[in-house]
Amino acid sequence: MAIDPNFEETHENEGTEHGVDVWGPTEPPEQLGVRGTHVAVDFDICVADGACLEDCPVDVFEWVETPEHPESERKANPTNEAQCIDCMLCVDVCPVDAVDVDPGRENRL
Ligand code: SF4
Repeated sequence: MAIDPNFEETHENEGTEHGVDVWGPTEPPEQLGVRGTHVAVDFDICVADGACLEDCPVDVFEWVETPEHPESERKANPTNEAQCIDCMLCVDVCPVDAVDVDPGRENRL
């Protein structure tokens, strides 16, 4: 299952964590929701592959620890999403389609 690109409509904004919006419902540690807005990562799909961290030319992603999450115990958080240049590399390299980038969403530079 890939990230829902319409998460702004299908999920509820629960505030912020690690500098980005949280789109729930969440029930930590098992259910963490979608994180970010311009650059969004579905933490419940992310397997901590790390390709997005390695390939992003402007270092948008940072690891955050997510102990006891069933998919992985760390996640690629789009901490610096305001720096995104919309190259779409992260979307292309993610092996589980956990990332969605939409320059039309808020937080764009
Ligand atoms: S679209 Fe490009 S610049 Fe934006 S977060 Fe993904 S890899 Fe980084």
